[in-house]
Amino acid sequence: MEQFPQPIRKPEIKYTKLFINNEFVDSVSGKTFPTINPVNGEKICDVSEGDKADVDKAVEAAKEAFKLGSPWRRMDASKRGALIYKIAQLMERDAQYLGSLETYDNGKPYMNAYVEMLFSANILKYFAGCADKVGGKTIPVDGDFMCYTRHEPVGICGAVIPWNYPVAMFSLKLAPALACGNVIVFKPAEQTPLTALYMASLCKEAGVPPGVVNVVNGYGPTAGAAITGHPEVDKIAFTGSTEVGQIILQAAGATNIKRTTLELGGKSPNVIMDDADLESAVAWSHEAVMTNMGQCCVAGSRTFVHEKIYDQFVAKSKEMAEKRTYGDPFEFSTKNGPQVDKDQYEKILELIESGKKEGAKVECGGEAAEGKGFFIKPTVFSGVTDNMRIAREEIFGPVQQIFKFSTLDEVIERANDTQYGLGAAIFTRSIDTAMMFVQGVRAGTVWVNCYNAPNYHAPFGGFKMSGIGREMGEYNLSQYQEVKTVMIKIPQKNS
Ligand code: NAP
Ligand code: MG
Repeated sequence: MEQFPQPIRKPEIKYTKLFINNEFVDSVSGKTFPTINPVNGEKICDVSEGDKADVDKAVEAAKEAFKLGSPWRRMDASKRGALIYKIAQLMERDAQYLGSLETYDNGKPYMNAYVEMLFSANILKYFAGCADKVGGKTIPVDGDFMCYTRHEPVGICGAVIPWNYPVAMFSLKLAPALACGNVIVFKPAEQTPLTALYMASLCKEAGVPPGVVNVVNGYGPTAGAAITGHPEVDKIAFTGSTEVGQIILQAAGATNIKRTTLELGGKSPNVIMDDADLESAVAWSHEAVMTNMGQCCVAGSRTFVHEKIYDQFVAKSKEMAEKRTYGDPFEFSTKNGPQVDKDQYEKILELIESGKKEGAKVECGGEAAEGKGFFIKPTVFSGVTDNMRIAREEIFGPVQQIFKFSTLDEVIERANDTQYGLGAAIFTRSIDTAMMFVQGVRAGTVWVNCYNAPNYHAPFGGFKMSGIGREMGEYNLSQYQEVKTVMIKIPQKNS
């Protein structure tokens, strides 16, 4: 694996405190919480635990940074773009360290973590280029008026992020927020607090002024809720469970009508027609649900296979899952590391048991792997029917559910029979079939003959209970802007 630098198996932990106003500080309460290595369940280190008092401090710093006339508000947009680009370059410089730190804290394979760092740097580069292209419009209104719009920053953004792709999620909030001139307060997931702190240090090193980026680690119901319920936070960007998304939307409404973007859960359908390239469909479908140990909001967790190829597809999927390597995430040959924590591990095992009880057939896996860490064997269920819990609930684990169908109309209806609408895919050689599916399925992204091909140029988000708003691409910018309409009376020459 020449193109990947070797991992640092025990990366130095450089930052464990909160990051407020460009300084690393203890929490007001002095409390800390442990972050755990999911490979063996052992503590890595203690991290400062923020709560309301720390969020208040961070919001105060952000407010100061956002004041009219502040260095941040006076900065040219092109300079802001250059700053964001600089952060991306620092991430590339430190991708080996950042990737290793993530693997240590989160358990994901180092190769995937390393690629995630480069992908995240690219997100920053994309939005760096947008910073000085955020312009309004001149509108030909009726009457003797000149009308134009200004696209202004929303103000203080709160970002509550999950543990499955910590740096990508951090970058996805940071980049558009800064490109549009906002200030931001982060609450990273309690399972993965470390890379966010390192990212904060890179923001400072790049030259981001004090108060523009702040990181308050802590727990959701305390630190997270303090951000989402803060009367001076103008916007919330959240990624995580639908359940917490609902709580956040209520908090946003109950306080000051915060602008809210939500990237929530999914139970995404992946449809394999009988004319598909079978080998390719099996391989994509396997990755669709096994990548990142299944801890992916857009996992292809409902694999619908046409009855004519069902048995063949199941046999090949079983073979792939049996061969999937799991174990030490720092080894280049490892495809699956552990699940992120004990709670997730237990939740997945409980859902696997429910699948067995409800009559689905375990083709392979179906249990925890031996050893201390939170490892689960790659699992394939066949004979899954639509009302089983494993067919309806988000498992967030390396568990493939394979359903059988007969017709396109039937499978579109079944694909849509869910509260979610994040992703969907179809494998077919027929353009007509693909187009019918694209039109019929209710999901934010549809893939044809591929799955989860992530691209920061294209918008990403959910229909229905999978979320509100879009991240990535140009569409994302409007969610970090307010539109101000300006009307100017034009004096007319008396005739
Ligand atoms: P979660 O609770 O939704 O966590 C996401 C973030 O929200 C974390 O930073 C969390 O803090 C915070 N949070 C929790 N309660 C909050 C509240 N009342 N107010 C404000 N913020 C709050 O997700 P989870 O518990 O880690 O995982 C549960 C399930 O969510 C998973 O099994 C999976 O199905 C789904 N999930 C989806 C995604 C996604 O990408 N869409 C990502 C992660 C999880 P804490 O760190 O204290 O929890
Ligand atoms: Mg951890």
